[in-house]
Parts: sequence; structure tokens; C-alpha cells
Amino acid sequence: MALRVGVIGGGQLARMMIAPAVELGIDIRVLAESEGMSAQLAATAVGDYRDLETVRAFVRDVDVVTFDHEHVPQEVLRALIADGVSVHPGPDALQFAQDKLDMRARLTELGVPQPDWARVENIDELQAFLDDHGGSAVVKTPRGGYDGKGVRVVHSADDAADWFARLSTGSAAAGDALLVEELVSFRRELAQQIARRPSGQMVAYPVVETVQRDGVCAEVFAPAPGAGDRLVQVAEGIGRQIADGLGVTGILAVELFETDDERLLVNELAMRPHNSGHWSQDGAVTGQFEQHLRAVADLPLGDASPRAQWAAMVNILGGPAEGSFEDRFEAAMSEHPDAKIHTYGKVARPGRKVGHVNAAGDDLDDVVYTARAAAAHFA
Ligand code: ADP
Repeated sequence: MALRVGVIGGGQLARMMIAPAVELGIDIRVLAESEGMSAQLAATAVGDYRDLETVRAFVRDVDVVTFDHEHVPQEVLRALIADGVSVHPGPDALQFAQDKLDMRARLTELGVPQPDWARVENIDELQAFLDDHGGSAVVKTPRGGYDGKGVRVVHSADDAADWFARLSTGSAAAGDALLVEELVSFRRELAQQIARRPSGQMVAYPVVETVQRDGVCAEVFAPAPGAGDRLVQVAEGIGRQIADGLGVTGILAVELFETDDERLLVNELAMRPHNSGHWSQDGAVTGQFEQHLRAVADLPLGDASPRAQWAAMVNILGGPAEGSFEDRFEAAMSEHPDAKIHTYGKVARPGRKVGHVNAAGDDLDDVVYTARAAAAHFA
């Protein structure tokens, strides 16, 4: 009988697992948060992933559970484990992608390079950090942030007064402390992806450059242009150390800063296919969605090498202001037959990720031009 993989979360990451699952003969099932989500084609259930009974009913007849996001509560994950369900990544690993304070503390234990950081419970503690770090810092809410929400550059402790006020309400969602980090002076942002099986086998993708606009990933270049052998090795080493050290299963994405003085520091972790790895769908021998399925199912991992010298990924943010994607296909496809267009079946809204375009080839400028020009048809 076909292996059954249950994905919790009905967004575009689950959607992009569907085609590789079909190819591999995997029976994929999705628990979507609501009707009409990106992954509705495989949605066998709709419900709240925070509700244990809803999740229990969904996983009843799957072999492996995995995720489209990191938000399933620890209590739910641990109850599934107690029920004997195979969950990848497991709660012990996932907690470090759910809580940025836990992640910083654990990476410190592992000796992984990262920005200076502290846990701060009040304005005085934040002020002390600012005084030690030249008067500027980055404050983050430990949980629930995405696309730059929950991240703020501060120049005075009062700049985070509203967030401290929320902490004092005592709600569990707010937590009891904020994370403060040094304001890193970086040359660019990079991302390292590693796939790891429950048995411990790992494969590494080449380190890529990511470009963020307004806190949202806009473009990715693979491999990171101008990266020397040393940088590539150090990034891969950091990725492997974290994947192994935290016991991650599935795809791990490590977001990195390349500092002005040429160090690599870990920004944050994602334990699922990640926007920084979309290029691999069309630019690597094994795309990250197939690789994630192989890893969580404990199947032999695929080759993560690039198929061409360069790949570029350009996100479609916002989408067509008028008409639909389909209206734009004709022009985009006829002008850029070498571009790979991926759409998420989402309603266009300003700044929302609704699709992306990949291109791959032997000339970086050509590849970037093609991906940008094809994506521009959908703006
Ligand atoms: P999110 O969880 O919302 O993706 P991140 O922690 O990745 O948030 O931060 C979003 C962006 O903010 C990063 O991509 C980076 O550009 C910037 N940033 C985050 N932390 C720092 C830091 N310590 N120093 C400088 N810039 C930072």
C-alpha cells in the first residue's frame, strides 16, 4: 500500500509537496485551516491544527505527519507522539523553530556563531543591552513572527514599550520576555538548506543569497554569487551542525547574515521547505519538496546538486491588480519559454506571496533577467 504522508497546514508549501508526492507514489493528505487554501487539491480535512482532537482525527490513518508551518502547539505534537504517531520534524527539534529565545539559547550551547543576544523582561534590561551595543539593537517577539512582523530596530528602550506592555498582560501567547539582538552590519543575507533523515543521513544544498524587501523574501540566487569555497564549506558546516545537534528531520533552512567583516551568523531557522529553497524545484537534481517528503518518510535522500551553473527565484508579491494569473500566462510564457512559473492559488493582496518564477542556466545575468521579467508580468 502507498505510504501515506499527512501535512498539517494548507498553504503553498503543502501545495508544492503535492506534485512530487504523486510522482513518488505517496498518498498525500492535508489538514487545511480553511476551505479554498493553496493545498486544497490534497486537503482531506479542514480544521484547527491547535485542537488535539481535530489533529488526531486527521492523522488516524497516515504513516507520517509533517508540516507546512511551525505553529502546531507542543502539547498537540507531544500527544501525537504519545499516541505512537510518526511526526517529522519532531517536537524536540521543532521547538527551536517555534521560539526564537529557545533557539538562541540552544545555538549558544552548540557553539554556533550568532549575533550577540539577550532575553529581556523589561525596559531596564533592554536599556542595559543598548548601552553595551552602541545604542541600537533589534528586538523580536520570540513567537509567532513571520515576514518581518515581530522584528523591530530600536534606538531607545522606549521604542519597545508597547511590546513590554503586552508581556505584562500575562497572556501565554505574548510570553514573558523579548529577544534582543545586536544590530548586525551585514553585507548580504544567505540561506543554507540541509535535508536530514530520521536515520541521520544528511544532504546539503549549496548556500544561496536571499534578498528581502520590507522584511519579505523577494529574490534568491543559487548558489550565492561570489561565494568562495571557504564560505560554502562554513555555511554547510553550520547547517549540518544544527540539523544534527537539534535532531531535525525533513528540510532545515538556516538563514544567515554574511557580515561586513566576512563572518557568518545565524539569523533564524525554519524546519520545513522554505522560500529560500524554491529555486531547487527547477534548479537542482532533487527539489526541496521532493526532498522533504523523502526525508520525513525516511527514504534515501536525493542528489541536491544544481542542474545548471545558476538559478534564480523571484517571488510574485501582490499578484495581478486586475484580472487573474491565467490572463497573464500567455504573454509571460511566450516571451519567456525558459521561465518556470509557480502559482499558489491565492487571492492577490498587496505584498502577499502568491507565486514565484524560477529560471536556471549558465549565465547569471540571463537567469536573473528571465526570472524578473517573467515575474513582472504578474505584478
Ligand atoms: P521573521 O521571523 O519575521 O522572518 P527575522 O528574524 O528573519 O524575522 O528578521 C527579519 C529581517 O530583519 C531579517 O531578514 C533581516 O533583514 C532583519 N534582521 C533580523 N535580525 C537582525 C539583526 N540582528 N541585525 C540586523 N538585521 C536583522
